[in-house]
Amino acid sequence: MKPRELLSRSLWLAPLLLSLVFVGGVLAWVRANGIEEQELQRQTLISDALSTEVQLRGRIDEEITHLRKLAAGLAGEAPSQAALAADPEVNAGLRRLWLSVTWLDAQNRVLAEVPSQAAANRYEDGLSLHLTARVAPDGVLVVRYAPALLLKRGVPWWLARKYDLQLVDSADQVIASSTESPLRVAQGARPSYRVALTGPLRASPLTEATLADAALELTLRDPIPDGVRPLAWVLVAGFLPAIAVASWLLRRQMRHVQRAEVAGRTEAAWRRAMEDSALVALRARDFDGRLLYVNRTFCDMVGLAQEQLVGLLPPMPYWPPDAFEELTERNRRSLAGQAPREGFEARWRHSSGRMVDVMVFESPLVDAGGSQIGWMGSIIDITERKQLEERERRQVETLAHNARLTMLGEVASTLAHELNQPLTAIASYGAGVTNSLTKLGVHDELVLGALQRLGQQAAHAGRIVARIREFLTRREPRHERCDLNEVISAALDLLKRDCQRRGVALELSLTAAVPAVLADAVLIEQVVINLVRNAADALQAREAGRRVTVSSRVAGDFVRIDVSDNGPGLGGRRIEQLCAPFYSTKADGMGMGLAICRSIVEAHQGVLDASDTSTGGALFSFSLPLTREPSRDLTPETVHG
Ligand code: ADP
Repeated sequence: MKPRELLSRSLWLAPLLLSLVFVGGVLAWVRANGIEEQELQRQTLISDALSTEVQLRGRIDEEITHLRKLAAGLAGEAPSQAALAADPEVNAGLRRLWLSVTWLDAQNRVLAEVPSQAAANRYEDGLSLHLTARVAPDGVLVVRYAPALLLKRGVPWWLARKYDLQLVDSADQVIASSTESPLRVAQGARPSYRVALTGPLRASPLTEATLADAALELTLRDPIPDGVRPLAWVLVAGFLPAIAVASWLLRRQMRHVQRAEVAGRTEAAWRRAMEDSALVALRARDFDGRLLYVNRTFCDMVGLAQEQLVGLLPPMPYWPPDAFEELTERNRRSLAGQAPREGFEARWRHSSGRMVDVMVFESPLVDAGGSQIGWMGSIIDITERKQLEERERRQVETLAHNARLTMLGEVASTLAHELNQPLTAIASYGAGVTNSLTKLGVHDELVLGALQRLGQQAAHAGRIVARIREFLTRREPRHERCDLNEVISAALDLLKRDCQRRGVALELSLTAAVPAVLADAVLIEQVVINLVRNAADALQAREAGRRVTVSSRVAGDFVRIDVSDNGPGLGGRRIEQLCAPFYSTKADGMGMGLAICRSIVEAHQGVLDASDTSTGGALFSFSLPLTREPSRDLTPETVHG
């Protein structure tokens, strides 16, 4: 397979590959976006951690301020449980964050404590941190608070919802957590950030020491997952099979289309080959007569290229100028759908100037939807046929002319023969009367002169008749070897159309090896034509099944030609009667045909005969010798020779 073909056959893969590239791109983008989001999230985490640390520190500072205010209020007062419990600052502190407020003296003995130890057990489990403030003159106020509570109340709610907050010490031990049960294990997978929160956190109420290396840790509750999100995977997983199915369908469709294309191309090639090899010229035209298509035969017929013809509107370049008007009118009728179904003849002009006789058949040109869009013309070149017909016509005319001349000769000859005797008789009688008158002693110059002139005139008339006969019947006979079968075929060719028209079937039964005879082919042809015509005439009496059979065979030293028919027959008439000059039973018959035939046949030293056939028809036959003495005149003078 050629690379080009391979490429076009694999085209269906392109959308699949593009889809894979697209999916890869989307995944990469989702991943890059995730990383970016993670980074953003990390930055937010850091800034949130820092701000939380500031807020917590502020909260502690705030509490210290409250405590100092309380200490200032208690300055100089006798320490008592009741006074402490009644102090609104104490109560407000307990409501906020404080677990307990303890009043110590200079020796760190508890003077008063709110609430009592038992009530404050709530956060006893976890670590508690302290705030202290001096109370004049020598007491100390210690506020105990739970760092977990600080984490819960000291940060805005949205931060608490977003992050798990934890206080951890240097040993990574959780000091306090905003959640009830902190899961250190899980935290490792989540993004977290630690900020040192050492300063304000005091573990012991009695020392100034703060928690060393304590830190605030923010852990994101719902971190953006690493890598590509599951939803993206689900979409990809759904998309890829879908695109695979689509590609498969596309491939199937493409194969289908390819097959259809190949079939279409093959069909077009076949059609073109058929159209180009057709002997019939084709042309398609729209309703305006514009040429839409012509095949090669059409181009050859008019001598113009396809490009010169397609798109042309009438008048066409192949119309002969002298027939312009006629062709314009015929073209108008054709386009109006009035062209005769059996076709019409036209004359076109080849670009070389040669005239082309054509037969045009118009039929509707229909498109794929079944509606007519113009006319399809099939054109046959009938130039040769026309020429042949013309030749035939001329030949028939010549034959008829010859036949007429021969007949005239025959008539003249017969007249001469018939008139000769009366004229001779007139001359003889004239001479006899002159002799008798002379013997009787009559010497009347007038009568004798008249009789003499009578004889002269009769002789003159005889000479005139002889001269006319001589003039009309003189024809140089041609002695040539001719094949009688060919002569018969040529004669029948001339009669074919006439017989067809008259419903007479012509049958030939020629013996293949008939030797050539020395004869005048034109005259013999005339004999055959005459006999077949007579038979066809006789057959008109018959309703149907009219048949004339012409056969040839060798019979002894003769070639015998039979012309038989299945007509009414001769009714017992003999050849002598039929051949008598001017004998005819036809209304328009001259009665010379058979006479001429006989004289021609006999001039060839042959014999003409006629008889009834066993089936009731007529049989005319003539025989010509295979070898003949060369010296006999073939003029019709021999008719009665
Ligand atoms: P024409 O044809 O002018 O009558 P022909 O000499 O050719 O003169 O024929 C003479 C007559 O012979 C015809 O009028 C016809 O009566 C008769 N004849 C010739 N051929 C046939 C035939 N095949 N069958 C019957 N009669 C025929």
